[in-house]
Amino acid sequence: MRLLLTTSQGIEDIAGREVASLMERLGVPFRVEEKPLGVEGRLLLEAGEAYYTDEKGRKRELSIATYLNENSRLLHRVILEIASERFEGIGEDEPETALKRIEEFVSSLPVERFVKVSESFAVRPFRKGEHRITSVEIAKTVGEAIFERLSRFGSPKVNLDHPTVIFRAELVGEVFFLGIDTTGDSSLHKRPWRVYDHPAHLKASIANALIELAEPNGGSFIDPFCGSGTILIELALRGYKGRIIGLEKYRKHIRGAEMNALSAGVLDKIEFIQGDATKLSQYVESVDFAVSNLPYGLKIGRKSMIPRLYMAFFSELSKVLEKRGVFITTEKKAIERAILDNGFKIKHHRLIGHGGLMVHTYVVE
Ligand code: SAM
Repeated sequence: MRLLLTTSQGIEDIAGREVASLMERLGVPFRVEEKPLGVEGRLLLEAGEAYYTDEKGRKRELSIATYLNENSRLLHRVILEIASERFEGIGEDEPETALKRIEEFVSSLPVERFVKVSESFAVRPFRKGEHRITSVEIAKTVGEAIFERLSRFGSPKVNLDHPTVIFRAELVGEVFFLGIDTTGDSSLHKRPWRVYDHPAHLKASIANALIELAEPNGGSFIDPFCGSGTILIELALRGYKGRIIGLEKYRKHIRGAEMNALSAGVLDKIEFIQGDATKLSQYVESVDFAVSNLPYGLKIGRKSMIPRLYMAFFSELSKVLEKRGVFITTEKKAIERAILDNGFKIKHHRLIGHGGLMVHTYVVE
C-alpha cells in the first residue's frame, strides 16, 4: 500500500522520523520517502499489511491510514495513493490542453477498486505553482472523469457537502496526484481541543516539530510568548513529565490558553502566567528549555518595536536559560542580532512554511 502523507513544508524530515517510529511499533515492513517527485510538504509511505488479534482471537487487518490519523502529531493528511504522474510542461499548456491531459489520465485509472459505486463521492483539489487552470477546474474535470468511469459499473452519486469518499486531486508544479483522502475535510493540524482561536496561532504540527528540535528531556520548559498555548498543550499531551510554563502579556490570550488547555484535559499540567517576556527573570529563576513562536509584528506601527523587543527578551533569556531554545519568526535580522549579541550560538537554522510564508526557525544554546 502506498500512502501520500502531507505536512508543513520544511518539517518533512521530522514528520518522516515520526512516521518511521510509529511504523516500527506496528512491526510491518515499510519505507518512507521525503518529498516524493520533489514535492515539498509531502511524504510517501510504502507499507506491508498490518494485522491485530481481536477479542475473539481472530486475525484482523489493521488500517495503517487510520492508525496514522489517530496517532500522528506532525501529519496533516493521510491519502491512499491511486496514481502519481509528472505532466511535463503542464504549466505552459492552454487551459483546455491541460485539463484534457488530466481527464485522459484519470479516465485510465481503475478508481472503481477504491470506491463502491453505491458510495457518494466528491473531489477536493489542491493546486500550487504556475498554471493556467484553477483548482476548481481541476476538481470538475477529475470529478467528471471519475463519474464517467464509475458509470460503467452502476449509477455513481456525487455529494459535494457530505461525501462518503473524498478523492484528493493535487497539481503541484508538474506533478499530478490522485488519491483517497482518509483524513476527511478537516486537516489533522486543526486540533479538536482548540476552543480559543488566537489570531496568530501556530499550527499544531509545527509546534510538535519545534518540540522535537528542542529535544526536551524532562527538564523545565517555557513558552514565553505562549498566545493560545499551542506548544505547551501539545507538549503536555505527549505526556511530558517536566514543569511546563506559559507566559503571555495579554489577559485575553492567557485566558484563551487556559480554556484550550482545559479542553485538551491538560490544564493541571501547565502553569500559565500573565506577564512580560522582556522581564522573564522576574517570573522564573532558571529554565531548561524555551520554545516559542515570537511576535512578528506585521501590523503597521508595531514592526519598529520588534528589534527592541527581541533584544530585551534574549537579554533576559540569557539570565535564565540552561539548555536549549527554539524560536520561529519572520524577522531574520532582528532575531539573529538578538541571539548573537546576548551570547547565544545558533546550532541549527531551517525555513518552515507557515501561513503562506517561509518562516525562520532557530535552535540556540
Ligand atoms: N504560539 C502562539 C499560539 O499558538 O497561540 C501564538 C504566539 S503569537 C505569534 C505571539 C504572542 O506573544 C502573542 O499572543 C502576543 O500577545 C504575545 N506577546 C507580545 N509581546 C509580549 C511580551 N512582551 N511578553 C509576553 N508576550 C507577548
